[in-house]
Amino acid sequence: AGGVPVVEKGKLTTCTHLPYPPFQFEQGGKVVGFDVALVDLVAKDLEVEQKILDTPFENFKTGAFLNSGECDLAAAGMTITDERKKNVDFSVPYFDATQALLATRKSGITTLADVEAKGAKLGAQAGTTGESHAKSEGFDPVAFESSDAVLNGLRTGQVDAVVIDYPVVQGWLKDKDNADAFVLGQNIETGEQYGFSVKKGNDALRAAIDKAIRDAKADGTYDKLYRQWIGP
Ligand code: GLN
Repeated sequence: AGGVPVVEKGKLTTCTHLPYPPFQFEQGGKVVGFDVALVDLVAKDLEVEQKILDTPFENFKTGAFLNSGECDLAAAGMTITDERKKNVDFSVPYFDATQALLATRKSGITTLADVEAKGAKLGAQAGTTGESHAKSEGFDPVAFESSDAVLNGLRTGQVDAVVIDYPVVQGWLKDKDNADAFVLGQNIETGEQYGFSVKKGNDALRAAIDKAIRDAKADGTYDKLYRQWIGP
């Protein structure tokens, strides 16, 4: 307590990129999800309200909205990477993720080898770790603006397969409208971890976020929220 306020204007403003279920998505006119719930814990500790802004995904790489002061932190199921660390500071990790390669049955792809052999059209969300992974495997994926757009591209046959964070497709795959899509092979163990980011040098807010995450892990709140939003 005391000293320089961690957030100004009495609000903790979060930049995100919608939709990214189950981390942040709209439900009943409100933005909800696992990330939202965790950041609410930070806001509660700071005795302010969280306000959420939907911003371009590119912002998370450059930290533009953090640097301009439009947002205090970014929460977007965002993977901590060395490249991003050049522009923003990350909290301690709060989630472990893998990538999934999804294909549709109508594409005729049944194995990983088919993706190359059949010259399949691959899709990914622009600027994501899924896109980087596809490129590192020698693909030139079609870039979509959001996870929603990637999955719609797969459903409508614009692309035959997509690389995308597994947690975001877990729910989508259960929808009967998406029954033609399936996870090809094993999930790709990229070892990635999600973190919340703050403007470089905003150590006070970063420390407040780290404390909220650690406290939630210690007192069972994290597990409760995990079960609520992610699953058993
Ligand atoms: N975890 C992935 C990344 O950081 C995707 C995040 C997202 O699409 N919101 O690139």
